[in-house]
Amino acid sequence: MWVRRQPSLGSDCALILFLFVTFGAATVRAQNCKVLPGQIKLGDTLRISCPAEFRSAKLNDRSAKLYLQPNGKRFGLLPISVKDTPGTFPLILSTSDGSESQTLRVVIRKTIFPSQNVTLAPEIEALHSTPEEMAVLASFRDTISETRSWQDPLAAPVSGCMTSPFGVRRLHNGKPTGEYHGGVDQRTPEGEAIRAVAAGTVTFAKQFNVLGNAVGIDHGQGLQSMYLHMSRLAVASGATVERGDTLGYAGSTGRSTGPHLHWVLYVNGINVNPAQWIK
Ligand SMILES: [Zn+2]
Repeated sequence: MWVRRQPSLGSDCALILFLFVTFGAATVRAQNCKVLPGQIKLGDTLRISCPAEFRSAKLNDRSAKLYLQPNGKRFGLLPISVKDTPGTFPLILSTSDGSESQTLRVVIRKTIFPSQNVTLAPEIEALHSTPEEMAVLASFRDTISETRSWQDPLAAPVSGCMTSPFGVRRLHNGKPTGEYHGGVDQRTPEGEAIRAVAAGTVTFAKQFNVLGNAVGIDHGQGLQSMYLHMSRLAVASGATVERGDTLGYAGSTGRSTGPHLHWVLYVNGINVNPAQWIK
C-alpha cells in the first residue's frame, strides 16, 4: 500500500530505518546447534544451524526443516509471525529418527506495531481478489522447494526509502481492517526497475485485481519474495532469475494510490519483516 507523501517523509524514513537497526541479536549456543537471534521480535526469522544428523526444528506448533548445506551442516529458517505470543519458549531440534534432540531457549520479545490510516478512493477500495487469484497465492506460499538459491544479505529491490514498514495495523479510510501490513512499501518513481532480491524461479508474473501486476519468486528452502503494483512486467512464469535481475517496472496498479513498490518476504508461507534481511 502507498501512503500519501507528507512534508516530513524524509525524516520519517530515517526514523523508521533507525528503529530497525537498533535491536541487537543475541547468540544462544547448545552443545551442537545454534540459533540466531536468541531474542527475536515478532515478524523476524530464526536462523538455525546444526550438525548434519539434525533434520528438524520445532517452536510451539511450528516446525521447520533443516536442509543440508554445501559445508556439510544443516540450516533452516523458522519464522516468527506478527500474530505469535511473546514469551520464552523451547526450540526443539531433532534428528531424523528422533533418537537425539537438543533444546535451545528462544525469547520472543513484545513488539509494538503502530497503526496507519490509508485513504482510498471508492473504486480502489472496492477491488477484491478473485478465488482464482487467492488460489495462485496460496499455492505460491505452500510450495517449498529443496534447492537454495538465496544468500544473505538479500539485495534491496529498489533504493527508495521506506514509507510504510512491516507490521503496522492498517486502517482504510479511518476504519480498522483487522489486517497488518504484510510487507514494506518503498517510495519508487513510476517506471523504475524493480530487481530480484536473490536468485530463484519466477512462480507467477501476472495481473491481479488487488496486487496489480505482480511477480512471485521461489528462492528455495522456504524463502519466497513477491513484488506488487508494477506498471509493467519484465519476466514470465517459469523464468530463472539472478540476484538483481529486473522483474518489472514500478507503478500503481491494483489497490494503490500512487507509484511505489510493496514487496513481501515469506518464510515457510508466513509473512516476515524484510528489514531483517537487507543490510
Ligand atoms: Zn504496502
